[in-house]
Amino acid sequence: MSKALGIALLACLAPFALLALDISNRYRSPRNPERKVRKSTELIVLHTTEAPAQSSLNKLSERGEAHFCIAEDGSIYRIVDRDREAFHAGRSMWNGKEDVDKFSVGIECVGYHDKPMPPAQLKAIAALVAELKKMYRLQDAQVVCHSHVAYGAPNKWQKRNHRGRKRCGMLFAMPSVRRELGLKAKPKVDRDVQARRLAVGDEYLRKVLYGNVDTMRSHYASLAKPRQEAKPKQDSGGIFSWFRYSQDKGAKTAARPSATVKSAKLQPPPKAVISAQAPPQSIAELKARGYRIAGYVTPEKSASKIAGGRWNSPDTYYTIRNKVISGDKVNPAKMEIGMAIWLKM
Ligand SMILES: [Zn+2]
Repeated sequence: MSKALGIALLACLAPFALLALDISNRYRSPRNPERKVRKSTELIVLHTTEAPAQSSLNKLSERGEAHFCIAEDGSIYRIVDRDREAFHAGRSMWNGKEDVDKFSVGIECVGYHDKPMPPAQLKAIAALVAELKKMYRLQDAQVVCHSHVAYGAPNKWQKRNHRGRKRCGMLFAMPSVRRELGLKAKPKVDRDVQARRLAVGDEYLRKVLYGNVDTMRSHYASLAKPRQEAKPKQDSGGIFSWFRYSQDKGAKTAARPSATVKSAKLQPPPKAVISAQAPPQSIAELKARGYRIAGYVTPEKSASKIAGGRWNSPDTYYTIRNKVISGDKVNPAKMEIGMAIWLKM
């Protein structure tokens, strides 16, 4: 074979590099054919599903809301073909360009924006991100999380368009998590805020994205060094029981216990020091904050029919028997007929 032919062959094979990873087509979206082919790819956007794997996969597939979804065990699922537009970023802006779906690949990771993810899952995310970076020639700082790019429209509390509509994927901006993903850099400034296109709508989020807030640091430090301690068997579950300890939304990292403390003795970190507005506790409070009932869950009308993509957003609320539950806490498997869904109007 001539050298030129060899090179041509290699060039043909390059687009299939992703096949090196084991990616399942089980949840490939029926929406694929109707989605436009993207003209450019400038970002990889990481999300957290804020829901368990099964309901996340069903929903993502049904609506074509990501290119890939990665489960806790590291399984990777293809949802929308990577060269097409998936609807994952919603109202979004980056460097003055709106509608980030038009120029990004979206990866949904099963899990929560403020909880650590298991090592197997992080390994799979790292591998997929590395392949995509190579394929689209992207730098580490072009791997962002949804909260980097999402923005909110003016509302009662924010007179201007503002960054901070979502904390989705927030942990992926934290240095300890990026280290696990093999990413050496992250965006240094929010150009949209700098240019006053957007106001800062969530000061804590800003500190996570652009400051040094890292609530995962001691978790990953404890995972990195434990092997020589010859732990009894039940301790391997101990690592996972840790996940519950790491739910602090805004604890100052300086106050965290140091990694020298044995993991079994670690206490939950202090509760949110800097936190966003506390969630509403009653129907009266919901009303006072400008929420209105968008509909009631019935056998014919699912939450996603009523609230669309906002059904599991932390600023969507469900009420039943005077109990108020935020969208990110509602269990889709236990959705009750008659639940009222409140959206900010
Ligand atoms: Zn998201």
